[in-house]
Amino acid sequence: MDLPGYAVGGLAVGETHEEMYRIIEAVIPHLPVEKPTYLMGVGTPANILEAVERGVDFFDCVYPSRNGRHGHVYTNLGKLNLFNAQYELDERPIEEGCQCPACRRYSRAYIRHLLKAKEMLGMRLCVLHNLYFYNHMMEEIREAIEAGSYQEYKKRKLAGMEKK
Ligand SMILES: [Zn+2]
Repeated sequence: MDLPGYAVGGLAVGETHEEMYRIIEAVIPHLPVEKPTYLMGVGTPANILEAVERGVDFFDCVYPSRNGRHGHVYTNLGKLNLFNAQYELDERPIEEGCQCPACRRYSRAYIRHLLKAKEMLGMRLCVLHNLYFYNHMMEEIREAIEAGSYQEYKKRKLAGMEKK
């Protein structure tokens, strides 16, 4: 069917990541390259990097917001749990250099305090950071594809996030 775009679904819950990648590889070659391909409900930053390599164009997922509400924040050096006691006196932003509204103004220690006190602002700041992190990663992905350096970008990004 000649449609404006194509959604690939039923792969986000219950399957292993390897199974998901295998099915993406089986399905995507049958879809037109000039039309957008959407992978439903995916996923972690690593899932997105792997799926883009296999031809997926866009995504939706609850991870950045749901994890943010639980104090789990994504960084280029891996995921942090701001409920951990190690951040109690940590005056650094969630991620050094991040331009999101949370990182420009607030420390890990302050956000942790808000989370511990069950102040809604703590959750909101974590969600803001995570949405910014995902959007910024998608910008980097588009730039890397246009520059013809996606493989190097993906390798570097994954290596950083898996350091912890
Ligand atoms: Zn941030």
